[in-house]
Amino acid sequence: MDWRVHKFGGSSVADAVCMERVARILEQDPQPRLGVVLSACRGVTDALLNLVATAERQEGPLTERIEELRHRHEVIADTLLAGNARSEFLAQLAQDCRDIAGILHTVELIRSAAQPVRDLIAGYGEIWSTRLFSAYLRHRGRRPGSVHWIDARDVVSVEWGPLGPAVRWDLSQANADRIVPRDPAAPATLIITGFIARDAKGVQTTLGRNGSDFSGSIFGALLSAAEIHIWTDVDGVLSADPRLVPDAKVIDSLSYNEAMELAYFGAKVIHPQTMAPAVLKGIPIWIRNTFAPEKPGTLICAKPTSEIAVKGITCIDRVALVNLEGAGMIGVPGTAHRLFGALRDHGISVILISQGSSEHSICFAIPEAEAARAETVVRQAFDRELREGQIQQVQVDPGCSILAVVGDGMAGSHGVAAKVFGALGNAAVSVRAIAQGASERNISAVIDSKFSARALRSVHSSFYLSPHTVSVGLIGPGVVGSVLLDQLASQIQRLSRDLKLDLRVRGIMSSKRMHLADPQVQLPRWRDAFSSRNEPSDLARFAQHIHAEYLPHAVIIDCSSSQDVADRYPGWLASGLHIVTPNKKANSADLEFYARLHEARRAGNTHYLYEATVGAGLPVIQTLRDLRDTGDAIHRIEGMLSGTLAYLFNVWDGSEPFSSVVRAAKARGYTEPDPRDDLSGTDFARKLIILGREMGLRLELSDVQLESLVPRSLASCTAEEFLERLPAFDTAMAERLQAARSRDRVLRYIGSLDAATGKASVGLVELERSHTFANINLTDNVVRFLTQRYNQNPLVVQGPGAGPEVTAGGVFGDLLRVCAYLGVKL
Ligand code: ADP
Ligand code: ASP
Ligand code: MG
Repeated sequence: MDWRVHKFGGSSVADAVCMERVARILEQDPQPRLGVVLSACRGVTDALLNLVATAERQEGPLTERIEELRHRHEVIADTLLAGNARSEFLAQLAQDCRDIAGILHTVELIRSAAQPVRDLIAGYGEIWSTRLFSAYLRHRGRRPGSVHWIDARDVVSVEWGPLGPAVRWDLSQANADRIVPRDPAAPATLIITGFIARDAKGVQTTLGRNGSDFSGSIFGALLSAAEIHIWTDVDGVLSADPRLVPDAKVIDSLSYNEAMELAYFGAKVIHPQTMAPAVLKGIPIWIRNTFAPEKPGTLICAKPTSEIAVKGITCIDRVALVNLEGAGMIGVPGTAHRLFGALRDHGISVILISQGSSEHSICFAIPEAEAARAETVVRQAFDRELREGQIQQVQVDPGCSILAVVGDGMAGSHGVAAKVFGALGNAAVSVRAIAQGASERNISAVIDSKFSARALRSVHSSFYLSPHTVSVGLIGPGVVGSVLLDQLASQIQRLSRDLKLDLRVRGIMSSKRMHLADPQVQLPRWRDAFSSRNEPSDLARFAQHIHAEYLPHAVIIDCSSSQDVADRYPGWLASGLHIVTPNKKANSADLEFYARLHEARRAGNTHYLYEATVGAGLPVIQTLRDLRDTGDAIHRIEGMLSGTLAYLFNVWDGSEPFSSVVRAAKARGYTEPDPRDDLSGTDFARKLIILGREMGLRLELSDVQLESLVPRSLASCTAEEFLERLPAFDTAMAERLQAARSRDRVLRYIGSLDAATGKASVGLVELERSHTFANINLTDNVVRFLTQRYNQNPLVVQGPGAGPEVTAGGVFGDLLRVCAYLGVKL
């Protein structure tokens, strides 16, 4: 009968409820012979080691802290045990606590604890958890055969070397054979202490922090188990640390090598040494979730079936990068040997090495805590070369992280490195050093620690292990902004499902109040959230929140018409925030600002899209860009870019005064609250110069020949007064209409741009009745492009050019275009 080994981590045995869960898992396992390795209850090892540190610093009081630990175990015992089992456990626990107090008292006097003392104290957690649990499982009586408590110190013998603890297999195997119940046919459950062992001299030692995984695999090997199951608090090995990448995915299977590489580079779910004993005997390891035992978990074995090239992405923080540079190293044999020899002699372990083929510099990464010591060691080792100038510098940069991409399949597939570095580039993370092992199982990049979360997410999402995450902030939840939020609310799930696009609206801001949300605003209820949880608006803080370091991309959508907001664009674009907007203020500001804006966009490698500034949702700017990008030459653009003015002249047939038509249009909501904003033509002129600049003309707003329909004498009164006094000008307007009609023409308010003359004009003109502009729907916008290609018959873009639905749709389109530029496959 084969053994099966289970190992439960600290989080799985944190309290009585957890222990009951573990008991149930074991009772449901039909395997008659089980080895069960337990960690200490969650946090207990830390607490015990803290006691030692406190004693060394004489920072007592220790008695209370020991009492806390005792009490925590007593509570579990009171819940799970009864009678003799309970009193025996409590008596032993009390004795252990007295021993600990005695030892710590000595430590306080000496002010220093030797390693064996530290190891002895640290190991009590596993002794308590296993004693407690074995008594409990025995008491439940639902496992076949007997329940034995096994003290791993009686079995596992190790020797600590530079690579950590090495198991002395022969001795340990002999111990195991002696202790383990002999009858191979008899069912049995062994409850085994994780983490602790004995050294060659018989002194208690540990297997290092998180060493219980290692214990699990050592016992797997000693018992020749058919399988090892490591139970923890996540669904398996995830493609990245779930605390940094919340949407990391469970990896279904991994090779031993992949798992080892992931563990070495910081995937905390498995201890790096765990694999060795299992590999030795070819035992498959399962990583499973104690809190969701029905889930399959991750299988780690010699030949996994999974065909994904990249399995996981990890990141180790607190790394220092050391760079040794000098022409004197070129072609000199043995430099690396001296360098790494010196580091080895001082016990400094090197995590990553990178050397260019010129041999002009050697660069390596070490734990940040060793940085100062490493610098001294390297300077000493190359003292002569430094003095003589053969080596110019030894530069040590703390504050680095190593991002590692791991997967066996990378060797056979193309473009993995390109994807990694592309994603880092997209996230504006610069790479300080690179290493790829010849096995091609791992590509590592050293980056600045402050970007580590963002880099991890960006690389992770580029491999489609998780959706692309884009942080979005919306400014101006007014007419257009609120419709856009509603449109997003209705589409967000589809985008996530079909495009793997994870759009997170994380802030909404009006001119007065803002609502910042983490992780995101619940869009279907954005109005409630915005009105109930808000604070005074602060543009800087808003932008900072949206541009969160740990999210790979951030976009600000400006649906306001505010100049203040527009003024921020250059700073935002330069800092890495993308902008999407229907706000015309920035693009129609003076040319100096316009140049600065686009320069900032280039410098920040960001995207700035503003299709909805002209013609709302109509593809006007995109069409113009496509024409220019494909080499067409724009000769002339003509258009009606004000829905309001189009409407007024479409409906006005002279049967009633012009002022009445304005009044009626206002009543139907076709004009701005103050109709002069439309009639003055300035809004139109802004759109025209946006197009003109897009065409390459250097136009200022003041260059536009503008015919305003607001009589000069009514320019500065109130809006009500304006409407009251407008009839005084009806006769003049009627005369213009009459004059046009007499020539069988119509009046239309249009704008035009001419490439040859560089002229821009906006005003009322007479057109033939057959002209395109004379025959459009009520409030439509229309733009005619006369180009080299479209010279006989112009390219015309026409359709509704105003209204919240279509404008919001245009902005939404731009937002998705930004996402596509960022790598989302639309
Ligand atoms: P245990 O107490 O069971 O030994 P640990 O805390 O040692 O548990 O390890 C599990 C934790 O490891 C998870 O809760 C998770 O937060 C973290 N972790 C880090 N990287 C990964 C990863 N790549 N896959 C799964 N978990 C990871
Ligand atoms: N209890 C030990 C620790 O916290 C061992 C383990 O949990 O794996 O390091
Ligand atoms: Mg662990």
